[in-house]
Amino acid sequence: MNLVLNSTAEWQREDREHHLHPFTDIAQLSKKGVRIITRADGVYLWDSEGEKIIDGMAGLWCVNVGYGRKELVDAATKQMSELAYYNTFFQTTTMPATALASLLAEVTPEGMNNVFYGNSGSESNDTVARLVWRYWDTMGKTDKKTIISRTNGYHGSTVASASMGGMGYMHKQGPMPIPGFVHIEQPHWYFNAGDMDEDEYGIKAAHKLEEKILELGAENVGAFIGEPIQGAGGVIVPPDSYWPEIQKICRKHDILLVSDEVICGFGRTGEWFGCQSFGFEPDMMTMAKGMSSGYIPISGVMVHDRVVDVLRESGDFNHGYTYSGHPVSSAVAHANISILRDEGIIERVKTEIGPYFQARLREFSDHPLVGQVRGRGLIGALELVKNKETRERFDPAGRAGTICRDHCFENNIIIRATGDAMLFSPPLVITKGEIDELMEKAKKCLDLTAQDVGVI
Ligand SMILES: *Cc1c(COP(=O)(O)O)cnc(C)c1O
Repeated sequence: MNLVLNSTAEWQREDREHHLHPFTDIAQLSKKGVRIITRADGVYLWDSEGEKIIDGMAGLWCVNVGYGRKELVDAATKQMSELAYYNTFFQTTTMPATALASLLAEVTPEGMNNVFYGNSGSESNDTVARLVWRYWDTMGKTDKKTIISRTNGYHGSTVASASMGGMGYMHKQGPMPIPGFVHIEQPHWYFNAGDMDEDEYGIKAAHKLEEKILELGAENVGAFIGEPIQGAGGVIVPPDSYWPEIQKICRKHDILLVSDEVICGFGRTGEWFGCQSFGFEPDMMTMAKGMSSGYIPISGVMVHDRVVDVLRESGDFNHGYTYSGHPVSSAVAHANISILRDEGIIERVKTEIGPYFQARLREFSDHPLVGQVRGRGLIGALELVKNKETRERFDPAGRAGTICRDHCFENNIIIRATGDAMLFSPPLVITKGEIDELMEKAKKCLDLTAQDVGVI
């Protein structure tokens, strides 16, 4: 590194003066000073003070194969020396871009054989919108432009993907959602269902989609998009009845079904893709995060043959990114997906480590603060409530979550708070011993939080 500074304080000063952080109150961060991560291995991080931290979030839900895999470094080094860059516009490709496309066709569900590359989940969800619009234009149904998604869904941070997402706190910082993006209720059984059983509520929540389609007119609706499990929104696991019903409604009204697999994809739920865990067959899937385990930016939209067949009739598609199919990113993603496949990591999430993680997480059901434990595979959440009997929430919302997150920070464990839900999404290579450590530390932080908020 060319900047040499002697202490954490100096790095913090430099950062404060020159670096605007995403999703951060910069004034508040300035007062506190930023944490500086310096290296990582497996499921552990180290900071500039030498503290060892267990990463229960796999970075931002992305480091599926864990930190420090030399194969990925080697793939990047080799590709950078051979061909650091060329583009995929103008009837050209590079071998890594094509090899990755072919590997993706192999690991994605039957009938998905083509990828359109981007560099982030947000970009690829913009691509989803462009593909949906192009598809229906080619079909001669030029009014089918509106895209329906869920309140509190997360699809990214560009203007289109943030509009597609249902985060009110993002929308209110701009004229968003932009026209053509509308939202329906999220399938959050615990808070929305009253005394309905889960599957009954799943059907009811899916029917919100049909109501919206009928309200807008099916001739005006192009697609529905959702995360199989809503991640950033709080790891909201829909009832099993939900997705099959959503699919039925989409087919009935001739609406494209898109699965945002940015978090669930590449093994998180114990299958290669979340749609396989929840029993539906999308027309397109957005992929990012776990695609390269976060080692390098890359994303893609995987497109089903039935959509590709139409796009083949549609002439030039005037959309793409300078780095679509970047050869270095493609080589790293290829090495990453090969590791996931060849080491049986996803199978292990399904049959061994996922069930162990879920069982350990469910031990928190008895904790006085925990109203609901939910999850699948290696993703999970603890919903903290003020009163377990009545499901009464904290006031203000997020009070307990924020306190718990601060205790986690102090105790060298990274799990994330969304509102009052504590979220887990560790690297898929985590061991049982490391899960035990994660749970012990989480318990300590929950106990401290319970004391602070007076729920014991
Ligand atoms: C993170 C995320 C995105 C956005 O990806 P970026 O790479 O941050 O642009 C989109 N969808 C889901 C479900 C995500 O979790």
